Amino acid sequence: MRIDLHVHSSASDGTTSPAGVMAEAARAGLDVVALTDHDTTAGWDAAAAALPPRLTLVPGAEVSCRWFPPGPPDAPPISLHLLAYLFDPAEPAFAAERARVRRSRHTRAARMVELLRADGVPVSWDAVRAEAADAPVGRPHVARALVAAGVVADVPGAFGPEWLGDRYRVPKADTEVFTALRLVHGAGGVAVFAHPKAWARGPVVPDAMIADLAAAGLDGLEVDHPDHDPVARATLRSLAADLGLLVTGSSDYHGTGKPVRLGEHATTSRDTYERIVAAASGGAPVTG
Ligand code: AMP
Ligand code: FE
Ligand code: ZN
Ligand code: FE
Repeated sequence: MRIDLHVHSSASDGTTSPAGVMAEAARAGLDVVALTDHDTTAGWDAAAAALPPRLTLVPGAEVSCRWFPPGPPDAPPISLHLLAYLFDPAEPAFAAERARVRRSRHTRAARMVELLRADGVPVSWDAVRAEAADAPVGRPHVARALVAAGVVADVPGAFGPEWLGDRYRVPKADTEVFTALRLVHGAGGVAVFAHPKAWARGPVVPDAMIADLAAAGLDGLEVDHPDHDPVARATLRSLAADLGLLVTGSSDYHGTGKPVRLGEHATTSRDTYERIVAAASGGAPVTG
């Protein structure tokens, strides 16, 4: 079985519509695809309605989280992502928290545009909003507006340290990660820590903190991922074994926004997939 449990559509920062992603998944020969847009379930219905025969959709989301390391209270939090699967999208506490994070995304993107404009960079808030359309606005939308304005050559260039990678990066008020875990489980979902060692993106959490998450009920670790080198994968595989966590491998496909192809790194076993489905009480996979 070919199972890809981490995929984005234009309902967040991917470039293909939810229906288009389902068609691409069938063409790529996948049996199971999870739609995991950032902080939103808005793509679920369109994806389910467009499911080709024999393709199974796992409704999900990628939850933007932060962890406050022990130590000085002014130390910056570390960003991390939880993949949430098969939760009830209407469960009020988790739904309210997703909505709060989406509002924070909006405010911080507007602030990034202000900072860019104050330095004379020709990018407008209208252009960024047009890139995002109805999606929760993220740095990729700002990046695309910078490309369209001819400021940078491509989206990866816009993530350089002189642009959205550092200088003009404004933090958003992400969900505290242990709270996020409780919210996912409270909505009947299953939680997998996305790309825990994607260290090129910024600081990552220590292994002892991953053990604390496991003790708090985390279900799995995403081990195979385009941002994980062989050392990261080997470390995570043994950590998952020590902690009794499920192991997944996924593409984190974003359409043309990133070079990875749908189905690449998608090494999740059928057994792991079935355990995820069995552990969930908030929803079930949808088959076309
Ligand atoms: P945000 O959540 O708004 O801070 O934006 C983070 C998103 O930007 C990630 O989910 C990726 O889709 C994208 N991203 C991060 N780093 C890069 C990069 N170097 N090149 C292209 N896209 C990136
Ligand atoms: Fe993304
Ligand atoms: Zn992520
Ligand atoms: Fe992702």
